[in-house]
Amino acid sequence: MAARADNLEIRTDFSLLINGELVSSDAWLDVINPATEQVFARCPAAGEVQLDAAISAAQSAFAAWSRLTYEERATAVRRYTAVLAEHQDELAELLVREQGKPIAQARAELKSCLKQADNTVGLQIPVELLVDSDTHRIELHYRPLGVVGVITPWNAPAALALGSLSSAVYTGNTVVIKPSPYTPLTTLKMGELAREIFPPGVVNVLTGGDELGRRLCEHPGVQKISFTGSVATGKRVLASSAATLKRVTLELGGNDPAIVLDDADPKAIAKKMFFACFVNSGQVCMAIKRIYAHEDVYDELCEVLAEEARNAPYGDGLDPKNKLGPLQNKMQFDKVVELFEVTKRSGARILVGGNVPNRPGYFLPPTYVTDIADDSRLVTEEQFGPIVPILKFSELEDAIRRANDTRFGLSGSVWTTDSERGKAVAKQLEVGTAWVNQHRAISAYVPFGGAKESGLGRQHSTLGLKSYMEPQVISVTN
Ligand code: NAD
Repeated sequence: MAARADNLEIRTDFSLLINGELVSSDAWLDVINPATEQVFARCPAAGEVQLDAAISAAQSAFAAWSRLTYEERATAVRRYTAVLAEHQDELAELLVREQGKPIAQARAELKSCLKQADNTVGLQIPVELLVDSDTHRIELHYRPLGVVGVITPWNAPAALALGSLSSAVYTGNTVVIKPSPYTPLTTLKMGELAREIFPPGVVNVLTGGDELGRRLCEHPGVQKISFTGSVATGKRVLASSAATLKRVTLELGGNDPAIVLDDADPKAIAKKMFFACFVNSGQVCMAIKRIYAHEDVYDELCEVLAEEARNAPYGDGLDPKNKLGPLQNKMQFDKVVELFEVTKRSGARILVGGNVPNRPGYFLPPTYVTDIADDSRLVTEEQFGPIVPILKFSELEDAIRRANDTRFGLSGSVWTTDSERGKAVAKQLEVGTAWVNQHRAISAYVPFGGAKESGLGRQHSTLGLKSYMEPQVISVTN
């Protein structure tokens, strides 16, 4: 621990993980608690030398690791999730301090990603028999790729790192993980704990800025990039990976629509919908970001959602009474405040919320907006913050057209008391996942990823696992 002039203790007990060693650096990243705007920790920032060392360690570890059986690698991942579970409380608290989300949501992030990793390593990737005749036997095998670079954003650092790590190492690859410079700490602690389980070089963790991410994408020693982040950065990742033709999975932003049909029961769905809008203060790729409500249920829906918003206290995530925490960083806070201002100036109606509190921390209240134009920024952009428009429709066709009128295509949902009707509407949404009467439901067994500009490829399920592997045909004639 190092003391600061204002008597705040700054944690410095964080290290990079390279080749099974905890490594320091001569450059540092300051980490800010978004609930206080104070620097509360400092961690090493890796440069080119450490990047080369981590990739080289991952390359060396690959030969032995890829030769293990799936079962042996699954056992290692399960041992790792058990160790993470033992440290869950400590990790959850660190996650709140660096990310801002309420402690219950931090615990839920950890719990669900541990379960997801355990379930992932129970999936099988059998050899597929394509032709079996008197003269030919043709099989489709899947081979691990080599070194996988994992790049994560600041909204769910633990879940997104563990999701890609478990898929990559289970399928026989080794990894170099680079979390967001805004939220490096939980991932570094997860790296420390990985050291107890995996052979040196199988899991490496490097923290640093955007430049480190770019170098990871360009590096010839890396075979695949698993990237989660914004659409704009995703396009840069794809461009940087092109020179070496890396395999790339992109999990990008969304502008998820939720269509509420005329037969929906607003009271019954209010809690679920509110949470799907504002969990993690709306900083979720697959949060509901636009609501289209039929005119028959519109007024009641506005009323019950506004009531939910009024009853959701926001503040420091370490105080368990708070349902919403701060925005994660100043840049995102300023962006969403601007969206608040632009929306107010446009003449749209602020149904609830809308004020910018005068207090330390990047806090904004949960805000619903009505009477807003389809071409307004709040409707067309990914807000990634606690402000959601509720738009009215009369004709279902029109709602579907407006829901699809976007370059995003991550996910969407339909809300109705008639699930068959809901399914028929869901099929018309141009998204990777369309839910009925739920939103944000993911599982290790179900592929997840974006249509259109919301991504490339899928994570989870055997489809996701195969994206960490190269198909190989073995064709034999007698
Ligand atoms: P971001 O794109 O700014 O940064 C993500 C990561 O990329 C960070 O680690 C950053 O350092 C790194 N990076 C930045 N420039 C890079 C470059 N040129 N090359 C390589 N790496 C680079 O995203 P963010 O602001 O941290 O996260 C918010 C975004 O992430 C939102 O758009 C959100 O919707 C999206 N997201 C998507 C999913 C999903 O599964 N689809 C999940 C979570 C978040």
